[in-house]
Amino acid sequence: MTGRTAVRQDGLQDRVRAAVFEVRDPEIDVTLVDLGVLQEIEVTEEAVRVVLAPTRTACPGRTAMADGIRRAVAAVLPDAEVVIDWRPGGWRADLVSEQGLDTLRGCGYGVTGHGVVLGIRRCPYCGSGRVESTGRFGGSVCKTPFHCRACGSAFDELGTADDIG
Ligand SMILES: [Zn+2]
Repeated sequence: MTGRTAVRQDGLQDRVRAAVFEVRDPEIDVTLVDLGVLQEIEVTEEAVRVVLAPTRTACPGRTAMADGIRRAVAAVLPDAEVVIDWRPGGWRADLVSEQGLDTLRGCGYGVTGHGVVLGIRRCPYCGSGRVESTGRFGGSVCKTPFHCRACGSAFDELGTADDIG
């Protein structure tokens, strides 16, 4: 292998990483990196391995996330094998980046952990603690719906089953 080839391969790996880092959550316009779901990536010429920690083990977005990763890799390395290791229980609300939090709040989501201050859930719109759960599940099993009695807003909270009491 010549030095020129090695440089080109390094560039490919960067492009694979860049493409995978752009993969977004199937339901929210935020990247899996910013959500704290995409936790590891290893790129070789033959295979790309990623570790994904779903927000809940039964999250129905898993198939869509995996498809998104495969498409992103295939766009750069069409022949590479894609290995996706799921790490159930590996996701934590504090892994969400500041960028991810901004996007989530902009979409009206609270985030378990971030949204709970001294045990009181806060409305992402007005900051009021007068919020109540309106049901077990929101739009998907990853979310719990809440209603703010101060400003009347409805919002979903992302979290794991353990976090939602
Ligand atoms: Zn409110």
